[in-house]
Amino acid sequence: MAGKDVATMKIGPKVWKNGKFLDWDDARIHVMSHVVNYGSSVFEGIRCYETSKGSAVFRLTEHMQRLQNSAKIYRMDSAFDRQAFCDATVELIADSGLESCYIRPLIMRGLDEDKPSFGVNPFGSPVDAYIAIWQWGKYLGEEAIENGIDVCVSSWTRITSNSMPAMAKAGANYMNSQLIKMEAILGGFSEGIALDDRGYVSEGSGENIFLVNGGKLITPPLGASILPGITRDSVLQIARELGIEIVETNIQRAALYLADELFFTGTAAEITPIRSVDRITVGSGKRGEITQMIQEKFFNIILAQSPAPFGAQWHTFIADSEEKKTASA
Ligand code: PMP
Repeated sequence: MAGKDVATMKIGPKVWKNGKFLDWDDARIHVMSHVVNYGSSVFEGIRCYETSKGSAVFRLTEHMQRLQNSAKIYRMDSAFDRQAFCDATVELIADSGLESCYIRPLIMRGLDEDKPSFGVNPFGSPVDAYIAIWQWGKYLGEEAIENGIDVCVSSWTRITSNSMPAMAKAGANYMNSQLIKMEAILGGFSEGIALDDRGYVSEGSGENIFLVNGGKLITPPLGASILPGITRDSVLQIARELGIEIVETNIQRAALYLADELFFTGTAAEITPIRSVDRITVGSGKRGEITQMIQEKFFNIILAQSPAPFGAQWHTFIADSEEKKTASA
């Protein structure tokens, strides 16, 4: 089934909602849903790549586990477990006609129209689950992957773990991300880096950050109010296999300026080099050697041209899953 085109994007024709497949245009919510008023959602961002061996979702299980974790933190008991989300995603992609896509699972507090609840207390609102898919290109631009981007340190502090846990990928966290992103864009930068409430480097508005210094790979620890990024984990495992020394430690703002190399990681951003911070050139001002080495390895792995580190299975092949389903039917 072919999806429809919206502007330059191809949209998956169906949206999964609570176990059913709806037409894209029917996946709508009421304006008085709890999520609209109070930001009560958790979500994921996942990519399905067209690989040398067919379409495959990258680290689907890990993403859906993080979705479950985010929902648990916010006491959103979904009727659907990790496997149900994985199966629904595969079915959605298989039926969409899209070879590659971005996947957006979402658990939110909706509105029971027969027994509406309009207050902050979330317990009276139903927990609804959705998955939508669409085709999405490079988040920070094609050219950025090679040449790097110009970023700034944000004047906004990253959310802190005792108020809005960054460990959960909650919709409301992205109000903080939006402040960071808007400030960056209006200042003529592609992205902003937030410091945590102690003043240490945290992350970008939608990316984790890595420094390379003296051949070592350095990144903020999970305690620095960061999302436990799945691309971050992939990069750490790739680096470990390549024999690169890894240091997870608190990083001062000034260390960003003095790094040999800097890059962002994320499902949308993939691995994007940073060539300047606050208009100070980082290293040689182009993609560094270690960044390029890790990037090449990463792209080979996601396209199934190289195996994942240490024999891990990072792909869910759409065709395999469909065959298994037919065989067991
Ligand atoms: N930090 C934030 C705030 C993000 O939104 C993202 C994107 N999900 C990341 C880090 C990177 O996470 P991942 O590699 O799992 O996409």
